[in-house]
Parts: sequence; C-alpha cells; structure tokens
Amino acid sequence: MKSSIIEVLQQYDNFAELKEFSEYGNGHINDTYLLDYEGIGKIILQKINKSIFKEPKKLMENIALVTSFLRDKIEKNGGDPDRETLNLIKTKDGQSFYEDSKGDIWRAYNFISDTICYEQVTNAKEFYESGFAFGNFQNLLADFPVNKLSEVIKNFHNTEDRFVTFKAQINEDPLGRVKDVKEEIDFFLNREEYTHIFNRALANNEISLKVTHNDTKLNNILFDKDTKKALCVIDLDTIMPGVAAFDFGDSIRFGANKGLEDEPDLSKVGLDIELFEAFTRGFLEACGKSLNKREIEILHMGAIVMTYECGIRFLGDYIAGDKYFKIARENHNLDRARTQIKLISDMEEHIEEMKKIVEKYI
Ligand code: ADP
Ligand code: MG
Ligand code: MG
Repeated sequence: MKSSIIEVLQQYDNFAELKEFSEYGNGHINDTYLLDYEGIGKIILQKINKSIFKEPKKLMENIALVTSFLRDKIEKNGGDPDRETLNLIKTKDGQSFYEDSKGDIWRAYNFISDTICYEQVTNAKEFYESGFAFGNFQNLLADFPVNKLSEVIKNFHNTEDRFVTFKAQINEDPLGRVKDVKEEIDFFLNREEYTHIFNRALANNEISLKVTHNDTKLNNILFDKDTKKALCVIDLDTIMPGVAAFDFGDSIRFGANKGLEDEPDLSKVGLDIELFEAFTRGFLEACGKSLNKREIEILHMGAIVMTYECGIRFLGDYIAGDKYFKIARENHNLDRARTQIKLISDMEEHIEEMKKIVEKYI
C-alpha cells in the first residue's frame, strides 16, 4: 500500500483493525476505496478529483451541511439515517475531510451494505425508482437554507451564460467548422428564448432556488438488495443551489432518450414517453407537494432546457476544436449535438403530452 494512503488511513480510528483495502465501484470522477475493519465493518474512502473540483473544501462544506440536515430529517420522519443518507465519518481530529501532504482532499462515508448499484436504466420500474429517489432528495431538502451552499461549479446550469459562450465560440470559429454546421447553429439560435425561462422565473420570484443534485445518474442511487427500491442518493459532489426542473430535466435528457447520447443514426433517437412518464410519476409522488404551482407548470420545460444547454455545449465544443468533451471518433461532438437537436424536436412535438403527464401526477 502506498505510504500516501497509509498517511490518510491513519487519520481515522481503528487503523490497527484494518484488514482489507481495495478499489471500489465504477465511479468515473473520484478515486473510491472500500475499507474493511476487523470486527467493526466497512467504510468508503474517496479522494476528490482536484482537476474537476477546484474548491474541494467548499464542496466538503456543502456535503457536511446537507448530510447532517438529511440525517435529522430522516430521523424525524422515522426512517433509517444510517442507510438512507450518506454520513461523513470524522477524522480523529473531528474533521469531515483530510488534506494530505500533497494537497489532496480525502473523505470517508459509512458503507451502505446490501445494496445494488445499476449502471443503466433497463426498464421503466428502475426509472420510476430513480425519479422517486431524486424527488425525495428534493423533498427532504425543501426547507434547507440554500443560501448556505457554495456554487461548486460556477454558472453550471446558467443557460444564458452557456449561450454567451456558444456565441463566442461561433464568432471565433478557430477551425473554420462553422460553415458546415449552419443548420445546427440556427436550430439553437432560433430557440434562444429557452435560455431565459428559468433565470426569468427566478428573477420574478415565481420559483425558488433549491438544493439540486446535478448528477442524477442511475449509478448515483443505491437500491436495497431485497426490496429493489431506491434507498439512498449518493455522489453529492455537485450539490448546489438550482431549480428542481434542472435535476428533473437532465434525468429525462439522458434517461428517457430512446437512443444513445452519441448515436449517429438519428432515427433511433427520440423521447421515450413511457420512460418520461415513469420518471415523472416517481419524482412528483416524492416532491410534488414541495413545489409551487409555477414550478410544476414549467417542470417539463426543464427537460427541453437541459437538452438545449447540453446541445449548445456539444456543438460549441465541436466548433472550438473538441477541447472539453473527450472524443473517440471524428465528429463525435457534432453527433452528440445532433442527438440533442433530435431530442428537443421530439420533445417539442410531444409537449402537450408531457404537460398532461405532469398534471396527472400532482
Ligand atoms: P464518482 O463521483 O466517481 O461517481 P461515487 O461517489 O458515485 O463516485 O462512488 C462511486 C461508486 O462507489 C458508486 O457508484 C457506488 O457504487 C459506490 N459507493 C459510493 N459510496 C458508497 C457508499 N457510501 N456505500 C456503498 N457504496 C458506495
Ligand atoms: Mg457517481
Ligand atoms: Mg460524482
């Protein structure tokens, strides 16, 4: 074992009892390890990815605040706070993280046993559970003082700001790609209106800032192995102030697409309305009551706006020379932008149906 890791392990209790140490899970962001202590049990240890998270201490402050709030809430509701939320394990010095001699930030969580973590949505039941889990997360945190949270990634879902960047990328056009993607560019420019919806509603106090998760993938939920129900939302690095429709919308964007995000055959891409309904039902069963009338009215627009935002990021990055999103083939980011365009068009066609489904579950 590397001495740097031993240095970290020694910050936590029971070092002498540590019997096993291994890499764990399929996360792509942080380094995750499972520690097993003789006669005591397991914990999860993670090193935070510094290249993505520039202010890991602020991120840890967010997580400490939210997990302790969740713990109290779950306890009050008669739930099991040891299994239904992550709990930070303190270092011997009583800190919620440890900064090692190289400046890396480490944290430890309770290991939640007897759970399953699914990598991909394979049926509507799982997607319903996913909606319920992230809706429940919203609901439990509905009265959390959101002004206490730091914006870990600035302007993450500020679609207006993303649009400004997109236009700058078009103006710069460093590789002369703009002339070949005029149609795609126009698709987004013609829908600029979408970029203002949520900022405007916030500015008019029609909707409010909430705690959003911002990485609502299926593999960030632990399911109970026996009941197969969603048990705990994990991976809290990107919790930030945001609007409920962002978590809802991004989940629909990647989970209710009939095709892959980078599918070159656009005939395979489109909104799966059955999956849309499954997620919406779960989400609203869990948090419908904590959303106001306007938040519910524009919930479905979250799906369109999140897809739009992703689309301009893919297309902007293609124009800029594939600097941000990793590519595995030529035109990869252009293919991704085109799937988002197809998906938006499909959502626009089904917009009345989407609205009706939302209304059905409130
Ligand atoms: P990343 O940001 O790299 O995705 P995650 O926090 O999602 O990291 O953790 C990676 C994987 O480790 C998860 O998908 C899950 O399988 C597992 N995992 C993380 N935390 C726990 C925990 N407290 N209990 C059980 N499994 C966990
Ligand atoms: Mg994860
Ligand atoms: Mg993560």
